[in-house]
Amino acid sequence: MATDLRLTPSSNLVHPDKDRFLNEENPFEAMMSRFDRAAQLLDLEPGLYKVLRHPEKQITVSVPVMMDNGELEVFTGYRVLYNTVRGPAKGGIRFDLQVTLEEVKALAAWMTWKCAVVNLPFGGAKGGVICDPSAMSVGELERLTRRYTAGIIHTLGPDSDVPAPDVNTNERVMAWVMDTYSMHHRHTVTAVVTGKPVEMGGSLGRREATGRGCMIVTKEALRHLGMKVAGTTVAVQGFGNVGSVAAQLLAREGCKIRAISDRTGAYYNTNGIDVDAAIEFVKQHRTLEGFKDGEQISNEELLTADVDVLLPAALENVITSKNAAKIQAKIVCEGANGPTTAGADSILDEKEIFVIPDILANAGGVTVSYFEWVQDRGGYFWSEETVNERLTDIMRRSFAEVLRSSMQHRVNMRTAAYMTSISRVAAVHKLRGIYA
Ligand code: NAD
Repeated sequence: MATDLRLTPSSNLVHPDKDRFLNEENPFEAMMSRFDRAAQLLDLEPGLYKVLRHPEKQITVSVPVMMDNGELEVFTGYRVLYNTVRGPAKGGIRFDLQVTLEEVKALAAWMTWKCAVVNLPFGGAKGGVICDPSAMSVGELERLTRRYTAGIIHTLGPDSDVPAPDVNTNERVMAWVMDTYSMHHRHTVTAVVTGKPVEMGGSLGRREATGRGCMIVTKEALRHLGMKVAGTTVAVQGFGNVGSVAAQLLAREGCKIRAISDRTGAYYNTNGIDVDAAIEFVKQHRTLEGFKDGEQISNEELLTADVDVLLPAALENVITSKNAAKIQAKIVCEGANGPTTAGADSILDEKEIFVIPDILANAGGVTVSYFEWVQDRGGYFWSEETVNERLTDIMRRSFAEVLRSSMQHRVNMRTAAYMTSISRVAAVHKLRGIYA
């Protein structure tokens, strides 16, 4: 029989934050308010509720780096392992001036629910270093990456904690993490990171996987709502790894990408932007600044543009209680992590906007990361076609499971996704019991 994890006598949940004023901008609180709602609906046991509301491990490291000018700079880095009950911790590393421990904690919890919602045998983690990579040379970035890796090396490992790229990190950064780890272990360990270059154990299809996953679930949502894919109009915020690929693949499916944007501005073309040309432009100029195929609008205007699908794929907290009422899209596909604040959720619900929540919508990346880890461990690599087929299967199945739960419990897709993932994590906690 499963261990009873009730640590308090009452079966009524007492949620400590229930009556507290919600700070809409605090990512950890925003995520936890969704967690609380799902936990309440699941009637989660109080003991398990407490366990799942705390990160397992939070590491803060000082990262000294010799800069090119000969001066020593000290950066701060974090790695948070939120929950590892279902398997090794999985989650990206971001380099950004906006990184905070609160944000890393929220993202690590997100990864826990995300891996569970697509039923991968992983827990959740996240890492970050407070820095401005755009102001650093390649050499400085390499030294920063290697020293940060050395600082958290005791948690890393194919069976314990497997990083991946996130905002402002890429396959080159992953190669440095893998090399540093391998040097310490005196042999090559490819499975310690995912999102590596294909030449050194990366998976085909990984780079496009998050955007591809967004495209797959957007198509599923259109089908569910009885809308045709061809001619569907789309606005994409953010034109990096996720946004550019999602825009490109949706355009290939026949959608009209009316608006795209990056940190330099947004571009609108009612007849559809030539996404391939925009990608080529960014390859040459690094950003969309100066892109001519469309009139320039603000990022705020992009969010409320006249489109069927809005795909935020930049940063968190962009759809808020201030602008949610003005959103015209029928579907919001959350490519970014946490683009919608908890305060905006109910407004989107009132407007009957179908939201594909981040933990489901952008799970394509971690799914192919899982494929990469499996391939590295097996030492046998799949064709891109196989990767994409298996990704499509997992995304479609997960969308269908969340949709079924949403209809069964009469809740929105976000709450249904949290309910699905929390119940999966809780089930394993119950089976394993608490080690004492
Ligand atoms: P990226 O660094 O490749 O791209 C980010 C894009 O957003 C860039 O085009 C940047 O200019 C733009 N941007 C930044 N600030 C902006 C602003 N204020 N307004 C408009 N655009 C802005 O990052 P990415 O990998 O594409 O990640 C984007 C989001 O998706 C993040 O929330 C990330 O956590 C999430 N995500 C990424 C992956 C992945 O596999 N890369 C997986 C899951 C979730």
